Amino acid sequence: MSDAVPDLDTVVREIAEEMADRPDRGEVATYIPELARVDPKAFGIVVIDADGHVAAAGDSDTSFSIQSISKVFTLTLALGMAGDRLWRRVGREPSGSPFNSIVQLERERGIPRNPFINAGAIAVTDTILSGHQPREALGEILRFMQFLAQDPTITIDEAVAASELRTGFRNIALANYMKSFGNIDNPVDFTLGVYFHHCAIGMSCRQLATASRFLAHSGRNPLTGHSVVSPERAKRINAVMLTCGHYDGSGEFAYRVGLPGKSGVGGGIIAVAPEKASIAVWSPGLDASGNSHLGRIALEMLTRRLGWSIFGA
Ligand code: GLU
Repeated sequence: MSDAVPDLDTVVREIAEEMADRPDRGEVATYIPELARVDPKAFGIVVIDADGHVAAAGDSDTSFSIQSISKVFTLTLALGMAGDRLWRRVGREPSGSPFNSIVQLERERGIPRNPFINAGAIAVTDTILSGHQPREALGEILRFMQFLAQDPTITIDEAVAASELRTGFRNIALANYMKSFGNIDNPVDFTLGVYFHHCAIGMSCRQLATASRFLAHSGRNPLTGHSVVSPERAKRINAVMLTCGHYDGSGEFAYRVGLPGKSGVGGGIIAVAPEKASIAVWSPGLDASGNSHLGRIALEMLTRRLGWSIFGA
């Protein structure tokens, strides 16, 4: 038996073929009504290696709602603005709780456990908003995504944002609760408006894998040479993704996939193989923790076949 590492294009194509045939696809999110309209059969995958080679298969160019994947990029922006002061208003420990849980907030006096549960991401958005009008803050976030993905066509899906605005009662409760502890500086409506809109950015796997390249390469996009963050900061963002990127499924994701990653309820996941590749997968059906069911399985197959888990083997 040969122990040669298989060819990346072949692995990616085979995974997409296998995923197309699987009957178990999870459940599409319905609590944001607009997301329930997405085809559960969709599946896309893109891997961009250190040389810039793009391996793509399935619905790799279809735009979908990035939802909580946006939280990685708002965290990056907020750290750029506030530096380590950000950690005074949001922690960096795994929560072991669902993405929209309110229980820990009371015990921990309005300081969310980490920037990737909804409460933490709302506090991060509030940091970006301070000193700006909501429209300016949102423009800043959108331009950052366009810059990272090298694609000015990326936009916000207004129908998804409006859908969440109408039904986001839990996020409204979380934001008001944090405000009662003094951990939201701006009017709650403004902060939530920016939060719902950045979750509603539409991107494809190709755009997301491109936008994540700096995290795989010590803060720098190897194609453009642009330094987005310092190597130290990229390392820390990856650490928070590894421990908190999949809510109460973060341990399972580390166990099975072994890469820093971040999921969204639109069914997307970004993952980072340090110094090797940035990866984006999309399949809209979710598991019980709100993470893409087939997305996680596809990533597990990818890291196993390529030997890319950061934990070896
Ligand atoms: N906009 C979604 C919410 O706040 C994001 C959740 C997610 O993608 O996990 O409920």
